[in-house]
Amino acid sequence: MKNTNLIGNTQIRRAAAAGDLGTAVIFDGPYGSGKKTAAAYAAAALLCRAPGDKPCGVCSSCLQAKAGSHPDIILFNPEGGNIKIDPIRELRSQSFIAPSQSPFKVFIINRADLMNDNAQNALLKVLEEPTSSVFILLTENASSLLQTVRSRCRIYALEPLSPAAVEDWLRANPSDDLKPTPAAIREAAQNCGGSIGQALRLLEKGLPKYAKLAADFVDSLGASPLRIMEVCLAASALTRSEYGDFYTECTRKLTEAALREPQYARYYVAVYEYIQQQKDKLTDNNGSVFALSSQLAAFCGTINRRT
Ligand SMILES: [Zn+2]
Repeated sequence: MKNTNLIGNTQIRRAAAAGDLGTAVIFDGPYGSGKKTAAAYAAAALLCRAPGDKPCGVCSSCLQAKAGSHPDIILFNPEGGNIKIDPIRELRSQSFIAPSQSPFKVFIINRADLMNDNAQNALLKVLEEPTSSVFILLTENASSLLQTVRSRCRIYALEPLSPAAVEDWLRANPSDDLKPTPAAIREAAQNCGGSIGQALRLLEKGLPKYAKLAADFVDSLGASPLRIMEVCLAASALTRSEYGDFYTECTRKLTEAALREPQYARYYVAVYEYIQQQKDKLTDNNGSVFALSSQLAAFCGTINRRT
């Protein structure tokens, strides 16, 4: 919970800075979408002691939040496993203890969507009790929470960042051990699905081959049928499971391309739908990777992006 630098997510930033986040809130977003960063930021802003912009980043509360050592910011389930009732009972007793130095405490429950029903019902009681504490539930799938819990909470959906915003962030926050080239930063920003966490993982690991090929494939759609064929031929060397990942990545990139270039959206959607059919064949073990990739090249060669 050390990173208190949040970009995008204006709604969360404004609400937290104004002290109007809500006392029970859900930050909902997929894996790697920056929920912990957003929670750390919001907690720091809520407890910041400076009179002006919050979090100021320099008051003693902000410094403790930044260092991950703030006694009134309590993170549950940092590893993100299933949550049974005991940790929620522990949270309840902690919520009765007065804060160490702040006007109130901030409890952050990581992967709150992994609470079992007993744990959720126990939490519901805590949320219904009069307390000055703030509870931030981080979920990858808020809809899996009991309706009774959800209805007590204000729900904030984490926004995916634009590739440009991720690129700017990566440049402005160089890590000590990673020394990525500008090209690697750009590539990671374009392939991270709007998530800084995912971009950092890509930089650590390098981009997997299927992801590079998926990026090449979608780029090739604006080029010649020969280029499409080259990329599909390269993809035919992937293993069956990598080829499945290639398809998944292609559909993600096609969705992005359709949003970016709405004038060609119909074309991208046609390719997307074709790939979905091919994916079914792949799952049903119907056709080799080589056959499927040749069919994909043939399909894309017969329809023109400009039409
Ligand atoms: Zn501060």
